[in-house]
Amino acid sequence: MGVHQSEQTGPGLRIVVTGGAGFIGSALVRHLLANTAHTVLNIDKLTYAGNIDALGDAVRDASAHPRYRFAQLDIGDGRQVEGLLHEFAPHRLINLAAETHVDRSIDGPADFIQTNVVGTLGLLEAVRAWLPEAPDGFLFHHVSTDEVYGDLTPDAPAFTERSPYAPSSPYSASKAASDHLVRAWHRTYGVPALVTNTSNNYGPYHHPEKLIPHMIICAMRGQPLPVYGDGAQVRDWLFVEDHARALTRVLEAGRPGMTINIGGDTQVTNLTVVQSICSALEAAGVQRPSHVGHFADLITHVPDRPGHDRRYAIDNSGIQAEFGWQPAETFETGLQKTVEWYLNNESWWSGLLGSGYQLKRIGRG
Ligand code: NAD
Repeated sequence: MGVHQSEQTGPGLRIVVTGGAGFIGSALVRHLLANTAHTVLNIDKLTYAGNIDALGDAVRDASAHPRYRFAQLDIGDGRQVEGLLHEFAPHRLINLAAETHVDRSIDGPADFIQTNVVGTLGLLEAVRAWLPEAPDGFLFHHVSTDEVYGDLTPDAPAFTERSPYAPSSPYSASKAASDHLVRAWHRTYGVPALVTNTSNNYGPYHHPEKLIPHMIICAMRGQPLPVYGDGAQVRDWLFVEDHARALTRVLEAGRPGMTINIGGDTQVTNLTVVQSICSALEAAGVQRPSHVGHFADLITHVPDRPGHDRRYAIDNSGIQAEFGWQPAETFETGLQKTVEWYLNNESWWSGLLGSGYQLKRIGRG
């Protein structure tokens, strides 16, 4: 599989983005192409969660943007990945390829171990084999989740970079395992690597099985809004474009061995999220189906998910001090942008409501 590298790579860094057709990966690729001079090689297997349309017009045809390449590939295919590293000679590799839906990990954990653990191993081994040829300053940036830290009691201080790992779900256990592999490859083999751990993201191009888009779509269709248990689970929400800016800062200025937490400084219960979506739909003047008095009347409590963590919260002081980054969006402004985006982009999400997706389910954000 060739990269088709042109001579026109920009003056910036060459960056491999794995999982660049996913929710966060596509936001990062859009940001890098629009706001920096960096050149991107997107390596993505295009699972049900990958969607090239999320990359926007400029890169729908890989030849259309001079600073963008695409290779459809499994990150665990070490031989092919190593070949691409030799061809593209990246200054950075950022790993966002993963299985990410907690409910799916409970139904079928094997895919999560395969991609998140074995796949990360394949990627690390490919990098290790190629490392003697890597450009000076090469860095492996592994993207992980705050869920590796387990959950917090209501009054406990937020997670810091020094919080111990205590994952609860097959998803978070697989992410924790991959974080440990990355740190071990740094320490044992000298692979220059860092890890960022991020809170719940939301925003445009989020797969409709995840909590916020799921609720927007159910409400628009007059279907029940299923809230797990009492809905008092607290999450720290981060607008995905703020995350893309943070990842870019770390790609440009991060150093090997770092751990960096990235959060939205916004702690909200799941029930409040759903109520806020209902209010945003009312404020946008969205027409309610005839049997619905208010969108909030559709809220329905369903039995809780096994092992459901009660609270996550990220202490952002590390990334603020080290990189001068902080989120630009509040939950209110970010949610309004998100609701408007789903109202205006039905053609994108309606195409994803097919096989394997069940609208009655509720997902993590
Ligand atoms: P996503 O599910 O939207 O996208 C994952 C992408 O990876 C898809 O494009 C998919 O095709 C690709 N992929 C899956 N398996 C692959 C494989 N074996 N080889 C190559 N590509 C493969 O995920 P996301 O929400 O964008 O998350 C990206 C990363 O950020 C993940 O590591 C996730 O754990 C982490 N993260 C996500 C959130 C969140 O709220 N979305 C929060 C914290 C951390």
